[in-house]
Amino acid sequence: MSSLSDLQSRLDEASAAYEEFASRGLKLDITRGKPAPAQLDLAADLLTTVSGDDVFTPSGVDTRNYGGAEGLIELREIFAPLLKVPAAQLLAGGNASLTFMTQALTFALLHGTAVDDRPWGLGPHKLLCPVPGYDRHFTLAESLGFELLSIPMDDEGPDVAAAQRLAEDPAVKGMWIVPMYSNPTGITITDRRARELAQMPAAAPDFTLLWDNAYALHHLREDHPDNLDILSLCAEAGHPERAWIFASTSKVTHAGAGVSFFAGGPATVDWMTANLGKVSIGPDKINQLRHLRFFTDSAGVEAHMRKHAEIIAPKFDAVLTALDEGLGSDDLASWTSPEGGYFITLTTMDGIADRVVKLAAEAGVKLTPAGATHPYGLDPNNSIIRIAPTMPTLDEVELAAQGLVACVRLASFEKLMAG
Ligand code: PMP
Repeated sequence: MSSLSDLQSRLDEASAAYEEFASRGLKLDITRGKPAPAQLDLAADLLTTVSGDDVFTPSGVDTRNYGGAEGLIELREIFAPLLKVPAAQLLAGGNASLTFMTQALTFALLHGTAVDDRPWGLGPHKLLCPVPGYDRHFTLAESLGFELLSIPMDDEGPDVAAAQRLAEDPAVKGMWIVPMYSNPTGITITDRRARELAQMPAAAPDFTLLWDNAYALHHLREDHPDNLDILSLCAEAGHPERAWIFASTSKVTHAGAGVSFFAGGPATVDWMTANLGKVSIGPDKINQLRHLRFFTDSAGVEAHMRKHAEIIAPKFDAVLTALDEGLGSDDLASWTSPEGGYFITLTTMDGIADRVVKLAAEAGVKLTPAGATHPYGLDPNNSIIRIAPTMPTLDEVELAAQGLVACVRLASFEKLMAG
C-alpha cells in the first residue's frame, strides 16, 4: 500500500465498488438499537395474559387500583436474581428505565441523595462519561445541567485512574456506566474494574455509579459472562449506596411497553421510593402482572432471551463477516466482536467517521451520526461509528454491512491519498 500508483489504483477500485453499491438505490437503516418485529412477536402472548376477570396478583393485589410504589413483589422476585440484587432493594416501574434515570437524577439535583441531603443542583454538577457511550445518557444529563467529562474506555471497562483524578473535584457527582455489553462497544466490565470503581476515592460523599444494566440479559452466545453483584462490591468497599442500578424489559418483551427496574443500597431504595411516592400513586401494575404471567419465573426470562439470540446473533455475525472480509486484510479499521447487547463499534482511521456516514447516507445506508457516541456530539478523533444490526432483516443487514465496507474503503483511501 506504499507507492502512490498503488494507492491510486486502490482508490479507483474502492470508488468503483462504492458507485456500484450506490447505484442499487437501496434504502437501509442501521441507526437505532430497536428490536426487529420478529423479536417483538416473541412476546405476543404478553398482551393476552391479563383479562378483565383475572386482575389479581398471587399475593392478592388488585392491579387495577392505585398503590404499590415499589412494583409487584412477585415480578421483582423474578428479576432480582437475574440482576444480582435483593428483591427488597429492587423497584419495578413504568415502561422506560430512562424515566427512572431522569427521576433519580432530578431528585438528587433538587433534594440531594440518601447519603448527603445537599441538593446537587445548588452548585456546579458534573458527570463522568466513559466514551464511546450512549447518546441518550449524554443528552439527558446535559439537559439537566450537568457538565459532561469524557473518560476513556478499554476492553475491561472505564479508565479508573482517569475517573479518580476527575473525582477529586466535589462537583463530580457520578459516572455513567453500561456494565454489560456496553452501548456501543459491547464490552463487559471486568470484576477487577468494577471493584476498583466501588472502592475509588471521590471528593463528593455521594459519588454515584449510574449502573445502567440495559443489556444484563442480552447474551448472544450460550457461553457468556455473568452479571456482577455491584451492590455487594460497593458495600464491601464501604460505599453501600454508591451504585444506582437501572434495567428494563424494553429489549426483552416490547420496547415501548415493558417494565423498568431500579435498584440500589437500602437507604437509596427508601429515598427513591419516598420521592417516587410524590410523583405517582403507583406504577402500571397491570403491565407488571402481564410480565409476571408471561415469564412465570427467572428461568422463563432466560429461555425467552435465548429466542432473541437466535434471531439477532446471525445479524451480528453477518456484520462481523462483512467487516472481516472487506476490511480485515488492509488494516483500515478495527471493530468490536460483542458477545451480547445491541451494538458493534467500528473504529475508522482518524478524521473520517463523518465522511463514512455521509457516503453511506448518499448510497442509501443510514448510520448513527458520527460523534453521537460522545458528549456534546463531539468525537475528538472523528473515528467512531456505531452499528445497530438488530432492526433490519438479515438480508438487509448483510447488504448494509457491504455498503458500509465500501464507504470505509473509499473514505480510507481518499485520506491515504490526501496524505
Ligand atoms: N440504556 C441503554 C444503554 C440503552 O441502550 C437503551 C436503549 N437504547 C436504554 C437505556 C433505554 O432503555 P428504556 O427503554 O428502558 O428506557
